[in-house]
Amino acid sequence: MFYLPTRIIFGENALREAAPHLAFGKRALIVSGRSSAVKSGVLGDLIPILNELNIEHKIFAQILENPLTSQIIAGKEFMLENNCDFIIAIGGGSPLDAAKAIAIAAANDLSEDELYQLDLHKRSYPIVAVPTTHGTGSEVTQYSVLTHSKTNKKAGFGSDLNFPRLAIVDPRYMTSLSPKVSLHTALDALSHLLEGLYSLSRNTHLYPMIHRGVRLIVDNLSLCLKEPNHLPAREALALASLYGGITIAHTGTTLQHAIGYPFTSAFDTPHGLANAMFMKEMMEFNLPNMLELINELFDAINMSKEEFYNWLESFPIQIKVEISDDEEERWMDEILGARNIAASPRVPTRDELRALIHTVKKGV
Ligand code: NAP
Ligand code: FE
Repeated sequence: MFYLPTRIIFGENALREAAPHLAFGKRALIVSGRSSAVKSGVLGDLIPILNELNIEHKIFAQILENPLTSQIIAGKEFMLENNCDFIIAIGGGSPLDAAKAIAIAAANDLSEDELYQLDLHKRSYPIVAVPTTHGTGSEVTQYSVLTHSKTNKKAGFGSDLNFPRLAIVDPRYMTSLSPKVSLHTALDALSHLLEGLYSLSRNTHLYPMIHRGVRLIVDNLSLCLKEPNHLPAREALALASLYGGITIAHTGTTLQHAIGYPFTSAFDTPHGLANAMFMKEMMEFNLPNMLELINELFDAINMSKEEFYNWLESFPIQIKVEISDDEEERWMDEILGARNIAASPRVPTRDELRALIHTVKKGV
């Protein structure tokens, strides 16, 4: 099965090329983070195009990293008060995911506690997604990952209503990323590609895309960190991120993502780093169940597993954090109860999970 209802326009000047496909309504709600829509240059390119198309716009630039459900309700109210009839989401995964949830909340008049109740998601508004990071691939996925404001628990929901109608991916909008966000988001994309192989919902149609995506990241990440304005390298990472998104739209994510969520909730560990710090251990953990698939990957990218690990460990991804034993027990419940566990090829016992967590626990 291969299903993707999103029109994708990729490459330099993609926004201009997308103009004929942009008119989903008369008044757009622009959802973004505090700074990325301006810093990336998207807003400066977008406003004249909206003016040419006679589309009005209202800006809601309040989405923080790892968006809270309370921000979704504020966005929903803003959208309804201003009678917007579609959304243009600009930014990293946080504003893109928030935009999906705002559209669902506004269309179905949901309260904060109803956001995860899929049976109440009957309709949504059209979404145009313009990513400014090369990590989540949210521009082509049906997922929205939120943190509940009351419980501080990070969890996603998936719904076909969430798929953006149009994804506009221009690597020029990513050259303003800091080295840290560049690194972390590329490692998130890498994680999505690898999880596409791990997932029990893995899909042979995706393997060429997964192999190519991993190769693009391995070949271009260091270059991009050294030369942030290197457009071909940025384009390679943007493409890998898009491939990662298309992959997880089909396979879902796995334990690799679930294990990172409590770290992000507790320590604000950036999402991509939270994946990367367990990436080697997770590959080793999954390996016995999928030796052939992993060998195929390394053949395709012309690298040995050890070379890949050395490459991975050349980046600053080794972190150690203070975790109490009580916290560790609670996190294990959360991780083992996560939605993503269903697709994991090997579900850890509590002792195995504890050992994985100890990779990053101080004093162990
Ligand atoms: P992000 O949280 O959206 O943004 C990280 C930081 O980068 C923010 O400070 C942002 O600034 C800044 N930024 C973004 N673009 C920039 C640019 N072009 N120039 C300068 N600064 C820029 O990061 P992300 O890693 O892309 O998204 C992470 C979120 O996505 C997490 O919540 C994660 O769980 C979720 N996620 C979703 C999916 C999915 O399929 N939907 C998959 C994986 C992860 P401002 O905030 O000031 O704008
Ligand atoms: Fe992710």
